[in-house]
Amino acid sequence: MPAGESSVWRENLSRNLQANVWPSDFEPIVTKLSNGEQLSRSDGHFLFNSKDLDTIGRIANIVKFARFDNSAFFNVNVHINQTNICTLACRFCAFRRGRRAKDAYAMDIDEYVEDLRNYANHVDEVHSVGGLHPEWDIEHYSALFSRVKDEFPDIHIKALTAVEIKHISKLSGITIRNTLKKLRDSGLGSLPGGGAEILDDDVRAIICKGKESSSEYLEIHQTAHELGIPTNCTMLFGTVETIDQRITHLLKLRDLQDKTEGFQCFVPYPFLPDDSRLPEAQLASGTEILRMIAISRLMLDNIPHIKAYRMNIGDEIAELALQFGADDIDGTVQKESIMHLAGSNAPLDHDKEMLAKIVINSGSKPVQRNTTYTSFEEYILPKAPARRQLRMAAGE
Ligand code: SF4
Repeated sequence: MPAGESSVWRENLSRNLQANVWPSDFEPIVTKLSNGEQLSRSDGHFLFNSKDLDTIGRIANIVKFARFDNSAFFNVNVHINQTNICTLACRFCAFRRGRRAKDAYAMDIDEYVEDLRNYANHVDEVHSVGGLHPEWDIEHYSALFSRVKDEFPDIHIKALTAVEIKHISKLSGITIRNTLKKLRDSGLGSLPGGGAEILDDDVRAIICKGKESSSEYLEIHQTAHELGIPTNCTMLFGTVETIDQRITHLLKLRDLQDKTEGFQCFVPYPFLPDDSRLPEAQLASGTEILRMIAISRLMLDNIPHIKAYRMNIGDEIAELALQFGADDIDGTVQKESIMHLAGSNAPLDHDKEMLAKIVINSGSKPVQRNTTYTSFEEYILPKAPARRQLRMAAGE
């Protein structure tokens, strides 16, 4: 479970780091972490360039342990992507459709609610992101969220990325602040972090022209934090960005978090190339994903949770990532289109037991959490009658 106050986990961290012997070239970084100092841009470059991934992973895991001991978190949620119709055409996106495409869809409020009803008795979160529908303004989303809260008051609504908030605000002719206020008052509980991509406008001009700028992404999240709406933040890596631009991204998020403390979780995920229009993307290997997760843990000392988003990286890498500084594997999900159209084959039929097994295989203790990380319950695997019967039959 969380180690609570910053001073408590930082003391744990200092003690645990000093109990180990580290390669000499890692000493400056270990000293900074032990002293509670933030790592610099040049520390970031050192970590990205080092050949010693094992040491990077070990340090990241010690930081994770200082905060959460050997707990790793998951939640029980469903993803509903409300529409794939989008007025933009980001080059990495395999999900969006033009309005007249044969497989374009837009779930009206009744359809959305009926879909959610299929899951409502066993989820505590609905996660909804989608395209920028040309007509869905603040009235549509306020009515949707109010209806969901009327019908399912215990389900937390985590919905709408920064660019969707910007689109709704523009379409409705109201400010970002008033858009967020109205959505919050209609039942929106938190924002997912999607759409950050790389917070560098040169990269954005290539991969997602027309989307919100880097500063707009940060301003929208800052405004949400000021209104008491917690948010997550993400990074899409492995397209056309440089290592320096990745570090810039981490530093921008860390600077905002120093001001607001509103980010709950950072979710770094690699670009998946199927059906995209980005042939020049560099793509990311398995070890690069693990390195990115470990470096996120080390650079983002002020964002508590680092997620290994199994919908994107798959169960096997997610399991390994829990040994490289990640502490969360997201949720049951059950329905997901955005990553699967881009090439993910992560299973969508995982129940709590399957998620717990991923956590246990990584050497951690599975803990079910709510969306806002304010309620925790250790998950104990049920006894396996089939296995027990087999053993009995074998005379064990
Ligand atoms: S990433 Fe989002 S904004 Fe960009 S094209 Fe896809 S659905 Fe539209």
